[in-house]
Amino acid sequence: MAEKMKIYTFPDPILRSVSRPVDNFGEDTQKLIDSMGETMYAAPGIGLAAIQVGVPIRLIVYDISSGEGERNLSVLINPEIIKAEGSVVFSEACLSVVDYSADVERNSMVKIRGVDRHGKPIEIEAEDMAAICLQHEIDHLNGILFIDHISNLKRSLYKRKLKKMMEKKPEDRKPRG
Ligand SMILES: [Zn+2]
Repeated sequence: MAEKMKIYTFPDPILRSVSRPVDNFGEDTQKLIDSMGETMYAAPGIGLAAIQVGVPIRLIVYDISSGEGERNLSVLINPEIIKAEGSVVFSEACLSVVDYSADVERNSMVKIRGVDRHGKPIEIEAEDMAAICLQHEIDHLNGILFIDHISNLKRSLYKRKLKKMMEKKPEDRKPRG
């Protein structure tokens, strides 16, 4: 079984990195993909970008049915949003933002061009939950977190809450998916 990796959390500055395109689809990348899958399912989460485990490359794994039985890991590399339509508001959370969720407005449909884990071109049309998940993950590749989409007031309240949590003993903290 692939090894689980450490998930970096806000306010770690690594999460602000702009990831670089993937041009190597060899063994190292394949291993990373499998480890990211393990890490995401164990968390549990529905999506994970490589930068969240400290690797600044444009690689995402996701499975919006994560936690509902059979695993069906999707991999998206070097994604570009080529079409975006509609709008939807959903309460988002993030494996890199401990103990917090907030409403974020996203496009309800996106068309994305990228490559799969072997470098083969793919095009994805995603709606609703899948569209939300992919926009959230693509943001990570550009150093953006979902809390950047909420009001300054809400964000500073979260920072204050986080500071209080950090002051407690680590075993009292409960990171969530
Ligand atoms: Zn996230």
